Amino acid sequence: MIPFSPPRIDQKVIDEVTAALQSGWITTGPRTKNFEKRISEYCGCQTTVAVNSWTMGMQVLLHWWGIKAGDEVILPAYTYCASANVIIHAGANPVMVDLNAEDFNINAEKVKAAITAKTKAIIAVDIAGYPCDYDKLYRVIDEKRNLFVASSEQQEQLGRILLISDAAHSFGATMNEKRSGALADISTFSFHAVKNLTTAEGGAICFNLPQPFDHDAIYKHFCTLILHGQSKDALAKTQKGNWRYDVEDPGFKCNMTDLQAAIGLVELDRYQENLDRRKHIFDLYDTAFSVEEWAITPKYKDKHKETCYHLYLLRIKGATEAQRDAIMQEIFDRDVSVNVHFQPLPILTAYKKRGYKIGDYPETWNKYANEISLPVYFDLTDEQVATVIQAVKEGYRAVMG
Ligand SMILES: *Cc1c(COP(=O)(O)O)cnc(C)c1O
Repeated sequence: MIPFSPPRIDQKVIDEVTAALQSGWITTGPRTKNFEKRISEYCGCQTTVAVNSWTMGMQVLLHWWGIKAGDEVILPAYTYCASANVIIHAGANPVMVDLNAEDFNINAEKVKAAITAKTKAIIAVDIAGYPCDYDKLYRVIDEKRNLFVASSEQQEQLGRILLISDAAHSFGATMNEKRSGALADISTFSFHAVKNLTTAEGGAICFNLPQPFDHDAIYKHFCTLILHGQSKDALAKTQKGNWRYDVEDPGFKCNMTDLQAAIGLVELDRYQENLDRRKHIFDLYDTAFSVEEWAITPKYKDKHKETCYHLYLLRIKGATEAQRDAIMQEIFDRDVSVNVHFQPLPILTAYKKRGYKIGDYPETWNKYANEISLPVYFDLTDEQVATVIQAVKEGYRAVMG
C-alpha cells in the first residue's frame, strides 16, 4: 500500500532526538529556542514562538488579540475544522466565505462583503501550500478601516482588522519574493506529522506586525502566555536560587518540547531538498494529467506566488461527489492511499447545527465534490508516482469511462 503522507524518519532524526533525550533536558529549552530563531531567519519574520500545535498557537493568539463573545472572525468555508474551532472556543462567531474560482483560496471580494463593525480578524488559509492573495486582502482591510472598532490595547495599536495566515500548509511557500510567515500580520504553522515540516505534533506563531509593535516584548509575553502566565520557564527556574516566579494573568499550556524541536531542526536543515523532491512529484503528476481532458490540475504557481508543494489537489471534470468517492475506492483497491482536502465545514455536523449551509458556498462545493488529493512526500519514489498515476487513470475509467 502506498501511504498518503508518512513522516520522513531516518537515522539522522533518531540521532538528534536521542541526543536531546541524553542531554538531560527534554522540555522547552535550548533546542526549542534555536528552532524559533531558525524559523524567523528562514521565513523572514520579526519573531517566532514555537508551540505544541497550530491549534493551541491560534487559540493563544486570538486570546491575546482580545477576541471575545460577539466578535466576528472571517475564514473560508473550505478548510480544516481547526480554523473554525479556535474561533468558537474564543467565544466569537466564525463568518465563513466562499473561494476564488481559479484556486482553492479565500475570495477577497467575498471577504469584503462579509466585513462588519464586529469583524476583528481574518484567517486566510493557504490551501495546499499556495499562498492567498495577501495584497488584495490588505487592500480590502484598508478599504474597510473606518468600520473597525477596537476593543483591546492591541486592536487600538493596529487600528484595523488583523490579517492572520493559517499557514498550516504553506511553510516555504513564497509571494513577491517573501516567504510564508512574513506575508500576513501573524502566521501560524502546523508541524503535525502529515505536514511538509514536522515535529510529530507542533506549531509556530510568526509575527510580522507593523510599527510600533515591539516584537521583543511580544515574544516575551507569548512565552509566558503559553506557560500558564508564569514569569519564568522551567529552564530559567533551574538556575541557582531562581525558584520564585509570578503569574500576572492566567495563561495556557502549550509550549513545544526540545524533543519536538530536535526533529524540527533536522527537518529545517534539509527542507530545500524536501521542497525540490515535492516539486518533482508535482511535475510528474502535471505531465501525466494535463493531457487528460477529464482532469483539472491544480494551480500552484503564478507571477507572484509559488506553493511549497504540500498537497496535489486533482479534480475530476464533471464528477459528482458520489462518482468521486467511487473513483477513490477504485484507487484504494489498487493499493494507493488518497484523500480529500477538505470536507467543507458547512457539511460537518458541528457547523450544520450552527446554521451554516453548504448551498451558500457554491465554489467551495464545486471544489470539494470532485477533488482527490494525491500522495506527495519526500520518500515517494518515481516508480510509486507512476503507480499512483496508473491507479487514478484506471479508477477514472472504471467509474466514468
Ligand atoms: C493541520 C491543519 C491545522 C491544525 O494544525 P494542528 O497542528 O494539528 O493543530 C489547521 N489548519 C489547517 C488548514 C490544517 O491543515
